[in-house]
Parts: sequence; C-alpha cells; structure tokens
Amino acid sequence: MGVKVVSEWLHSCSGCEIAILNIGEELLDLLERVELVHIPVLMDKKYFGQTGQENDLDIPEADVALVSGGVANDEHLEVLEKVRSRCNFLIALGTCATHGGIPSLLNQWTKKEAMETIYSTSTTDDCEIPSEGIPKMLDRVYALDEQVKVDLMVPGCPPNSEHIASVLKALISGKSPTLPDKSVCSTCPTLRKGKGDVKGVKRFLENANFTPGEPLERMRCLLEQGYMCMGPVTAAGCAVSGAPKCISARVPCRGCYGPVRFNGNQLLDMMNALASNGIDWRSIEDKRSLLRFSGAHGFLRPLKHEK
Ligand code: SF4
Ligand code: SF4
Ligand code: SF4
Repeated sequence: MGVKVVSEWLHSCSGCEIAILNIGEELLDLLERVELVHIPVLMDKKYFGQTGQENDLDIPEADVALVSGGVANDEHLEVLEKVRSRCNFLIALGTCATHGGIPSLLNQWTKKEAMETIYSTSTTDDCEIPSEGIPKMLDRVYALDEQVKVDLMVPGCPPNSEHIASVLKALISGKSPTLPDKSVCSTCPTLRKGKGDVKGVKRFLENANFTPGEPLERMRCLLEQGYMCMGPVTAAGCAVSGAPKCISARVPCRGCYGPVRFNGNQLLDMMNALASNGIDWRSIEDKRSLLRFSGAHGFLRPLKHEK
C-alpha cells in the first residue's frame, strides 16, 4: 500500500491543487506509490457524511497532508485541526498557507471595516452583511503554523510543481525534503552593474528597458532600472529554464514566494534593498502592498483598531 495523502483547501483559490496536477506525467508514477485518500477539489466529499448524518468531520487518517490556503474563518480552523489530528506530516502548500498570501491583505483592515466596505460597495441594492448560515470570520487571516504545528513549508503562488513532486518523492523514500533557501535574485541572470541613476521607484506602466529578442543576460536588472522588483526579498523557487518566471517575461518580481527567511519582513527588507540601490524608499506609493503575499504572522495590521 502507498503513502496515504490527504489534500485539503482552506482560504484557497485552488491554484495550489492545479500545481499538484501540473506535476504532469510524473504524477502517474507517483500515484503508484501515493494513495490520495481525500482530495475534495477532485473528488466529491461531504464533511459530515453523504447526507449530513454524521456529527464529526469525516477526514481519513493519512501519512501526509497537503493543505493549501490560509485560515480565515471557524470552518477553516476546524478542518485544519481535524487534518492535523489525522496525519503524521503536515505540509503547508502555497504562500497562502505559509505566509497568508493574497487573502491576508485583509489584515490591514479591521473585520468591521472590511465587511462594511465590501457590502456597501456591492452592485446589488439593499445588500446586507450576511450573519446566518455562514462560517464565522476570525479576527484576521492566519498562516497555518499560527494555528497548528506545520512540518514543512512549500511556498509559491502557486508553488512549483517540481517541488511538490520532489517533496512527495523524498517522503516516500524516507528522506528529508530540501527546497531552495536563497532569494529570487540568486536565480536571475540579468545584467547587474551596481546602483543605477534612478532615485525614485518607477511605476511599471511601460516596458522595462530591453531590446526585444536579446537574452536576459543583456537586460539590466529591473531594480537597477528603478522598478520595484522584489527579487532580493523573495524566496527562490519559481525559476524554470534558468530564470525566475516574471523576469523571463521582463516583468518585476511581485514577491509571490514570500520572504527568503521564514520570518523575514518583505516590506522592511525591500526598503533596505531600495536604499542599497540608491532609490529613495519614500517614493513607494503604497508601502503595505509589499506585504501582499506575507501579511500573516502579524506583519499586516489595521491602522486603527476595532472598538
Ligand atoms: S498560494 Fe496562490 S495559488 Fe495557492 S491558494 Fe493561495 S492564491 Fe491560490
Ligand atoms: S532585482 Fe529583479 S531583475 Fe534584479 S537581479 Fe533581482 S530578480 Fe533579477
Ligand atoms: S518572479 Fe517573483 S512574483 Fe514572479 S513567480 Fe517568481 S517569485 Fe513569484
């Protein structure tokens, strides 16, 4: 019998599950040794039995759990705690699970501010904030390790399919999985000359300076060109064919793998990176947007507190 795997999704967009499927043909080989015993995104599953007859969440025992999404409401928390109690090894899959991800942008407002804004700007007339028959929102959006013990973090929005496959293969063979521990810049081939002449952050409203068709090695580093490229403060992992994904498309890194060090602060670290490149950090229009992928762990907080 193979290694039993549970896959669950909490405050998730399902992109992480697509990344599992994107393992491609190798997934067929893996499925010889991995038994997916629970994966609601692919197989119909009722938490309380097919007709809702059970009182307890029905999640099978497993060797490994892959959990995507952050924890935003009491249902997410209940599911996460049940998964934790049923598995030996829990993997936080994707940046929502490891650092809060995009949903944790909500943490910059109080719950009250967020709900009132969302429902008062609805296009439907007489739209009321729902209160019955829905899970109760928590005070903020949490990464998984803020609520339960996590054994391994596999960041990325979405995570790299090759990493998911290599982690599963390592666990099947009883080895410790290894993942990149450097920054996106460490995998970037662009030309670096040192500080550029730009003193303020340039908004990315037009193409960076490069000659179409030229290799990336001849394009000047986007940060040195004055663009907000978050490569220095973002964990490596997205590189395919020798370059980070966005840089291959000549677009600045937006920080989607979260910080390089687990508890790094992408906002503060980026302010330092800008200063080192001679760019005035005060020219950043919306500083808190630099925490767009890592707003959990208390990094993004409301400016005024809910009464
Ligand atoms: S990490 Fe990205 S791909 Fe995964 S659930 Fe969150 S938003 Fe979706
Ligand atoms: S700042 Fe951006 S463009 Fe420059 S080396 Fe790092 S990832 Fe590449
Ligand atoms: S370059 Fe940055 S934003 Fe783009 S995929 Fe890689 S880590 Fe994510």
